Parts: sequence; structure tokens; C-alpha cells
Amino acid sequence: MPEARPTASANANKPKSAPRKAMDKLGLLRDIDLALHLPLRYEDETQTTRIAAAREGETVQCEGEVIESRIELRGRRQLLVKIEDESGELLLRFLNFYPSQQKQMAQGQRLRVRGELRGGFFGREMVHPVIKAVDEHTPLAQSLTPVYPASAGLPQSYLRKAIEASLKRAPLEELLPPRTVPSHLPSLRDALNFLHHPPPRVPLATLEDHTHPAWQRLKFEELLAQQLSQLKSQRERAHLKAPALRGRREGLQEQLLRHLPFQLTAAQQRVAEEIAQDLARPQPMHRLLQGDVGSGKTVVAALAAAVCMDAGWQCALMAPTEILAEQHFRKLIAWLEPLGVQVAWLTGSVKGKTRQKMLDAVASGEANLVVGTHAVIEDKVQFAKLGLAVIDEQHRFGVAQRLALRKKLAAQADAAGPPQGVEHPLGGPAPKATGGPTGLEPHLLMMSATPIPRTLAMTYFADLDVSTIDELPPGRSPIVTKVFGDAKRDEVIAKIRDAVEQGRQVYWVCPLIEESEALDLKNATDTHAELGAALPGHAVGLLHGRMPPAEKAAVMAQFSGNQMKVLVATTVIEVGVDVPNASLMVVEHAERFGLSQLHQLRGRVGRGAVASVCVLLYTGPLSDTGKSRLKAMAETNDGFEIARRDLDIRGPGEFMGARQSGAELLRFADLQEDAPLLKEARAMAPRLLNEHPEAARRQVERWLGGKAEFLKA
Ligand code: ADP
Ligand code: MG
Repeated sequence: MPEARPTASANANKPKSAPRKAMDKLGLLRDIDLALHLPLRYEDETQTTRIAAAREGETVQCEGEVIESRIELRGRRQLLVKIEDESGELLLRFLNFYPSQQKQMAQGQRLRVRGELRGGFFGREMVHPVIKAVDEHTPLAQSLTPVYPASAGLPQSYLRKAIEASLKRAPLEELLPPRTVPSHLPSLRDALNFLHHPPPRVPLATLEDHTHPAWQRLKFEELLAQQLSQLKSQRERAHLKAPALRGRREGLQEQLLRHLPFQLTAAQQRVAEEIAQDLARPQPMHRLLQGDVGSGKTVVAALAAAVCMDAGWQCALMAPTEILAEQHFRKLIAWLEPLGVQVAWLTGSVKGKTRQKMLDAVASGEANLVVGTHAVIEDKVQFAKLGLAVIDEQHRFGVAQRLALRKKLAAQADAAGPPQGVEHPLGGPAPKATGGPTGLEPHLLMMSATPIPRTLAMTYFADLDVSTIDELPPGRSPIVTKVFGDAKRDEVIAKIRDAVEQGRQVYWVCPLIEESEALDLKNATDTHAELGAALPGHAVGLLHGRMPPAEKAAVMAQFSGNQMKVLVATTVIEVGVDVPNASLMVVEHAERFGLSQLHQLRGRVGRGAVASVCVLLYTGPLSDTGKSRLKAMAETNDGFEIARRDLDIRGPGEFMGARQSGAELLRFADLQEDAPLLKEARAMAPRLLNEHPEAARRQVERWLGGKAEFLKA
């Protein structure tokens, strides 16, 4: 596939025109990019309507002769042009105009005009219609006129010409063998030609809602490419090797189970078993463990770690924040150290001698389990025998970070050699995930409390196996969520006093103001002072992202130890924090938070047996999406339902966090609306890959290019 338009290289030294630059900015670089830049809507210039037959409020095209043209000052200077056909008269009104336009519309000239017909005070009129000087023989357009997504400095006329030219040059030959495409769909070339120039009288509704077969073909192509790329990476994984990890009978896992202060739920038992089966295989596990906040994923991770360590291998557990990592660390120490496990602790704030000691323990294999933040996968960290890596709250690691992480893990698995170059630029060539001389990769367990709706899991995570914890531990009472306007703030503070006096603990979450860290902090410190004054005699603490880690840990320890009753915090507490005695949460400026973020936050309460309340305070006026988010929160506690609604509100690209990386994963297809096509693409992908591997490769290249990598993260 040519990488650039032929003209681009010939003109390489010429300065680019403004529209060309605007096109580059929209990513319209190659012929194929332009060919796939599809109209937003169409204008019908294929027919004219007799003036008398046109209806008010309709956008129509009429043709007639200018019978009058004059400039008037009615409040402001305006050009009034009257045209006439055999059926009637029409007034054209221009509030801005050039002298040249006035000339173009001189008396006697025949004009084709297009615009919305209005019933004005002075008769029927069009304000600022599109005009074209014509004669009786000027032909009408043969197809509907496309209107493309454009930007400032990129006129439609320029874009139309560029697309027209690219459409002729673009390599659109059929890649898919016969009978791999649903039979009612046109070829890709026909589909594109059709969408850029639909014939007159095509039902516009099917073009606009993208149900027309031409649209379906594009969506099918895109979905197929994506399924192929998933399938390919899945197959590549089947050729990778990992240590087969089997726990001993009466080994660590069983001992841990005996020591736990609770019984596993049926769902926890089931997923622990799924994981154990994966670990026992000589191929690396890539499993996503999803379960709503509070469903008890940590203990499942600990059980997996126990199997791994029992088999004589090391395990690493990573969390996105220090607070969360520290909490895991405490829990795992409490559970596992009594069983003789050595746990090391690695975060950015572990420095100097302590750090060196940890690194040595990891390198020698003395530390069986390493808990920490991203620091765990830094190049300096060498594992003696890494068998399993667990990533908690994996969605908090961006797509790009997750990708880097997997590459690093692959490199770390090479216990004998130095770390391999792992800093592949995203979108660059796919790195070979080899385990070096040992040839072994660690198993990978990712955990997420943001459940992924099934359609998304199928599409984006086809290369991941998914285990789901679908029940909460017993004895939890559901959280009641209330949405209040700011005016109720004092009432809410009174409720906090009640809760504290009944021995409960309270979170107050302040919004993260992204544009201004200083404002953000001020907000939190002000609220801290306000609550301190309103609750004399009760300890009110403050936690925010810019505190030194030791201070954060101290505050968190006081809160979990119940010496501190109210914790004012920025979103640092969003993930994973576990204080069962906290039963009231107030989220300030709730309208600024995303839906899954709110759900995560709310999950900090409702962890004990006491009925919990989550108060969402908002400052109006609310946007439509703001309203639907708060409504969703008030209506349901179910993380899957929340995720589904979040997907509705935001669309899959943003939902997956891909937007921050600039990669739109699906341009044409919609996973929900196009579920039937997705099904066909899924069914077709294996056949195509087996029987026509070269066609499959080119299909992925055509559609995904450098983006294929993203789909693996
Ligand atoms: P999450 O899935 O959100 O990470 P955690 O692993 O933090 O949830 O577990 C939430 C709380 O529930 C913790 O206090 C944990 O010890 C407790 N827990 C986990 N499993 C059970 C169980 N089967 N019975 C009772 N409590 C449990
Ligand atoms: Mg957790």
C-alpha cells in the first residue's frame, strides 16, 4: 500500500498549502485515508423544485432568473435579490456579501440556489443560499453531494476534489476470498464509491444511520481486521512457553485457605480454580480477573501467588498507586508471612540501602513475593525466577502503559541475560515477546473492578481469558446513593456528625481539578478546615496526591485504625482502599467525575455489615451526560450495569481509555449496534487466517496499520 500520495513526494520541498496542512492534521495522509473519510451527510443537488412547490422549512434547490437586485438599509446593509421561475418568485437575502457577488447576481442572470425556504414578511425567501450562476443547459449533479467532516481552513470543495482523486488511486482491490464476506454486501470499492456519490433518490435514512449495505461492508471489514489481529496474537501466545506451576498437596494454597478469617464465596472458588488450571499449563496465562469493587479479588490473587511460590517460582504484584500497593503489602504479609513466605516491597519511595536490599533479595530469589508500584518492573529489577505477575486495577494503567508493561515482563522473564531493549515506540514494529535463553514467559493475571461489558470483552480482549467474580461476600448491605445540589451541603455536614457520633467513619472526596493542581489542593484544604470546624472533638484528616508517601501512609494508617473519623481526600483513595468501618461517603462536585470513577469511589463504603450511604453533591447546571451519570449512580449499584451505561454515554474508544493515547480503535463499527456483524466477523476470522493467511495479513495491515499493537495491550 503506498504510504503517501504520489504528489506528496514530488512536492516535498514546496511549502504546504493551508488546506493541505488542515488535511494532514485530520490524518488524511494516504489515498486510503482519504477514501475512508466518509461523508457526514449529503446535499441533494440532483433535482430542482419549482418555486411554488417548495415548502417552508424545507431545504430545496430552485432555479430562476434574477428580476431584481438591490441593496437596502433595513437596520443593516443587505443585498436583496429576487428570482423568478414560471411558477413564482423567491427573495434571496444576503447580510454579508462582496461586490463580486452582487455582480454575479445581476438582473437577467439565471441562478441555481439552494437553501432553507422561509416564509418571510416580504414573501418567501432564502437567507444566504448557496448560489451558482447557470444557463439552461447546465446539467444537474448526477449524485448526492457529500458533506465531509472538515475543519477550519479546509473548504468542502477542496476536500471533495482531494477525496475524488484519492478514491481513484487508493488500493481498494478485494482482499477477501469469495464466500468470506456476507453475500448481501457489496465489494469494498463499490461500497466506497457508493458512499461518496450516492445516486439520487437513495433512501437517505439508511445512509445516515449507517444501516445501508455499503456501510455494513465497511463495518464488516473493520471488525474482521480487528478479529484477525486478536486471533493472531492469541495464536502467537500458544507458541510461547511458561513454567507449568502446580501447587503441592497440602501446600501453601491450602494453608492459606485454612488461615483466612472467612470462607471463599462460590465465585471466588470458581475463579481461583480457573486460574490454577491456567497456571498448570506450559503456556503463559493472560487472564483478566474482573469483579465489582469489594468482590474480593485480592485473596484470589494471593491464592494464585501461593500456587506459584509453592511450585518454587517468584510472584510479583503491582498496583497503580502507593497507597493501594501498601494495603496489599500489609494484607499479603498478614496472610503469607506466617506461612514462611518472604515478601519484598518496592515502590518509587523505597530508596538507598533498603532498595538495594530488596533488589538483592529479588535477584537471588530469596524474596518469593514482590509487591509494589511500577517500580517492580523497572529495568534494574531482576527476578531470579518470575513465574507470575499480577496487575491490580489494570485499567488504571493506560493502554500504552499496559503495552509497555507486557513487553517489560517478557524481557524480565529472561533471567539469564540483561534486560532487552523494551522501549518500542507505540505503533512501531511488533516486538517479539521471547523469554530469552530460558524461553519462558511469566503468567499474567490482570485484575479490574471496571467490568468490561461482554461485547467489549469479546472484541478488545479476544486475546485475554476472562474470569468474573459475580457475587459479593455475604453480609454486605447495599449502598444507598443520594444526589443533592450544593445547597444541601450543611445538611450533609450534619449527617456526617450523626455518623461520626454513632462510631462510623466518613470519606469526603474532593474533585481533582485537572487544569490546576493548586486549586485542587486549595479545595481539599478548605474543605478539611471547614469539616474540622464543624466537627469539634473528632479527628478530621487530609489526604492528597502531593503529600510525601510516608505522610500519606501515616494518614491512611490512622484512618484504618479508626483514630481518625473523617478523611478528606482527593481521588487518591479511588482504587482499592479497604476500611470496612467507613459507611458514609460524600463526593463533592460529583458532576466532574466519570461514571466508573464514581462507582469506584462509592465502592470504598459498603464494605462492612452496616448500611452505607453515598452522597453525590453537585454544582449545577448539569450537562446532559452529567445528568445521566448521576442518574445511573442513583439507580444502580451493579458494576456491570454501570459499565454498560458508561459505554452508552461515552462510546467504546473513550471507555477503554484509548482516547488518551490518540488511537481510535473502531471508526465505523459500533459494538452494540453491529453485534450481528461482529458475530460474522468472529466466525470468519479463523477460516481466513487458516486458509488465506496472506489475505488476512493484508486485511489487518490495511485497516489497523500501526494500531494493531494497541489491541494487544
Ligand atoms: P476488591 O475486589 O475490590 O479488590 P478486596 O479484595 O479488597 O476487594 O476485598 C474486599 C473486602 O472483602 C476485604 O476486606 C476482604 O478481606 C473481604 N473479603 C474478601 N473475600 C471475602 C469473603 N469470601 N468473605 C468475607 N469477606 C471477604
Ligand atoms: Mg482491589
